[in-house]
Amino acid sequence: MVLLRSKTTSVFLLISVACYSCSPPEKPIKCSSENTNCTITNSYGAFPDRSTCRAAEVAYPTTEQELISVVAEATKNRRKIKVATCFSHSIPKLVCPDGQEGLLISTKYLNHMLKIDVEAMTMTIESGVTLRQLINEAAKAGLALPYTPYWWGLTIGGLLSTGAHGSTLWANESSVHDYLLELQIVGPGGAEVGYVKVHLEFLEPFHRQSIYRIGDRVSTNTSGNGLYNSTSFRPIPSLELGSIRTLEELLEHLSYADGKYASARTITSKLLNTAYGLSNNDDDFTGYPVIGFYNHLQASGTCLNSHRINSACAWDCRVNGSFFHQTTFSISLFLAKSFIQDEQKLIEMEPKAMCGVELYNGILMRYFKTSDKQEDAVDFDITYYRSKNPMIPRLYEDILEEVEQLALFKYGTLPHWGKNRNLAFDGAINKYKNAREFLKVKEVYDPFGLFSSAWADQILGLKMV
Ligand SMILES: Cc1cc2nc3c(=O)[nH]c(=O)nc-3n(C[C@H](O)[C@H](O)[C@H](O)COP(=O)(O)OP(=O)(O)OC[C@H]3O[C@@H](n4cnc5c(N)ncnc54)[C@H](O)[C@@H]3O)c2cc1C
Repeated sequence: MVLLRSKTTSVFLLISVACYSCSPPEKPIKCSSENTNCTITNSYGAFPDRSTCRAAEVAYPTTEQELISVVAEATKNRRKIKVATCFSHSIPKLVCPDGQEGLLISTKYLNHMLKIDVEAMTMTIESGVTLRQLINEAAKAGLALPYTPYWWGLTIGGLLSTGAHGSTLWANESSVHDYLLELQIVGPGGAEVGYVKVHLEFLEPFHRQSIYRIGDRVSTNTSGNGLYNSTSFRPIPSLELGSIRTLEELLEHLSYADGKYASARTITSKLLNTAYGLSNNDDDFTGYPVIGFYNHLQASGTCLNSHRINSACAWDCRVNGSFFHQTTFSISLFLAKSFIQDEQKLIEMEPKAMCGVELYNGILMRYFKTSDKQEDAVDFDITYYRSKNPMIPRLYEDILEEVEQLALFKYGTLPHWGKNRNLAFDGAINKYKNAREFLKVKEVYDPFGLFSSAWADQILGLKMV
């Protein structure tokens, strides 16, 4: 159960990209017999190391009481556990239980809004609630949660676990966890407490007044019916996805960077002409600023539950669509300029190296200002081609890896925990000044290490595999 502080905000300006009835996305957990003998993957259908993660069983609690019983039973039997969400959107294999006998606890049915307190501007929700539900329910009550990610399909449990964020330097908080007031955690316990412990954590908020995006806010009676239906998050016909991917594979095969450049130009100008999916009124984009209600502008994801025949989210693994890596990290605001200059030097040496990145809307940069980040930062989000054949290198792989290494090792950036190739987590724990305290808290919540895996231990620097 999660209590989030939600704040009223109003409007803002945004300026800036063979299936068989696919949408909505496929379930990440598949079991060969009802809820046993299962595999789990992410929404892209592949973890960075392409391994298949197995679990002996999956449980779908529908209430907190059921959840408590499931955790108690698993703890009694010293089973390895991981929490899975309805779509499993993280790229790294955070969700894989250790070994093959583990238990997955899905939050698919723990998706209830429990309470909205309009006066206190708080919402109490279960952790399987999606960002879409949260934004919509908040809006009905005249509230809003500012600076969230832009994709509807993420759950609150997943957002909090990976430190997911929106973008701002204006407020003091740009991550979802900055708005958290209380967190109820169900974890393993000893026999004396019935093998389960429910911890209730209270978090000290920064301040209690409403925060607005100053400069972007207009009075609610300003006319405007703006909508953001991100072009990238709409259902796309599988034939179109297939032809884009086939062309990209061909250009990779031919090492034809000019072809990538031309494709990137087409995509970029289409996005610009369609305002990335923004409309002022009735699906029409007439110009900036786009004015509308926060819940119509902050996040989107119509491919999530569209029933358009033969169309899907661009990355749906059931179609021949996008297949990519993401390298995502946050770099201190004061070092960002120098990092960009290093990147520019690389591009000067090989001007076409970044054309492939353009095909994925270029590098997305967002501001990061939170309670727990070590300093104000800029988050860089770089998406690029990944071959379906692990033996085939990418075009300009050397340049992209150089960028990744510059960021991670020269500038010591912090990785986004829900994205990235495994390399990003190598030694990452040493970059956090509160790492030791984090590991102590982890020990308190999970004294038997039931939620740990060899992979997680490795990235936390606890065990080398
Ligand atoms: C299209 C798209 C757009 C995105 N946009 C952004 C963005 O704008 N900003 C940003 O920061 N990130 C973004 N992300 C990344 C995303 O925020 C993270 O990957 C997020 O954590 C995924 O949420 P999920 O609900 O799918 O969780 P999962 O990926 O399923 O789970 C993530 C982790 O959380 C754990 N977990 C989940 N629920 C619970 C729970 N109730 N209790 C304990 N552990 C739990 C899981 O075990 C796992 O370790 C985006 C991802 C996608 C696919």
